[in-house]
Amino acid sequence: MTLPKMNRVLLKLSGEVLMGDQPFGIDPAFVNELAQEVKTAKEGGLEICLVIGGGNIFRGISGAAQGMDRAQADYMGMLATVKNALAMQSALEQIGVPTRVQSAIQMDQVCEPVIRRRAERHLEKGRIVIFAAGVGAPYFTTDTGAALRAAEMKCDALLKGTSVDGVYDSDPKKNAQAKRFDSVSYDRVLADNLKVMDATAVALCRDNDIPIVVFSIREKGNLARVLAGEGVQTIVQSDTN
Ligand code: UDP
Repeated sequence: MTLPKMNRVLLKLSGEVLMGDQPFGIDPAFVNELAQEVKTAKEGGLEICLVIGGGNIFRGISGAAQGMDRAQADYMGMLATVKNALAMQSALEQIGVPTRVQSAIQMDQVCEPVIRRRAERHLEKGRIVIFAAGVGAPYFTTDTGAALRAAEMKCDALLKGTSVDGVYDSDPKKNAQAKRFDSVSYDRVLADNLKVMDATAVALCRDNDIPIVVFSIREKGNLARVLAGEGVQTIVQSDTN
């Protein structure tokens, strides 16, 4: 399976990759490295929309497990994604990449609200747009936020940069025999509940025919390799492609 030519992508980074080697939070040095990778990808001619998770700071489901109200905890998680977005914006702008943050929860003093047509204009002008706060509602994830923005911004693919190098048939951290797929269909991911993204995000990509490319962003240069079709990755797309 090969990917279509990519002109515009949605790059989703899990919050935990911003931790670098720390157990929690944001490692500015590692964020700078990520920003450099994003800059290189942009210089290759891509239009880039970015979504960053919040798991390095707060996940609603963990708060709920400790007795918090789930919706309240999810709003905290969404605010965490805004912090990450601002950290990445700062890192990108320090290396000369104009960037705008648009948040699904309005906070005028900090960033723009999500306005699709304005986001289009930013991309046309060569800016990177970071979409923060997921879909702006609790009980969702930033993966679903990424799928939603990929659909509305008409991205050619959703690149999910995370700490594993693809999709496995079982958890590679627990099972040494786990096999990585080079490609797998949306339906198989959903039927076998494979750990890629939550089901809502996968279904949204399937229904809008957006390929998902899962790869490790922890290794230096991997984003460029994946974009060149050379990296270790798993492509999730329909059986017919
Ligand atoms: N979240 C939410 N709605 C959204 C997106 C995120 O409620 O549309 C909350 C949710 O609590 C989630 C947290 O924000 O756990 C951080 O996002 P996520 O877990 O997707 O981050 P990642 O795992 O990618 O770091």
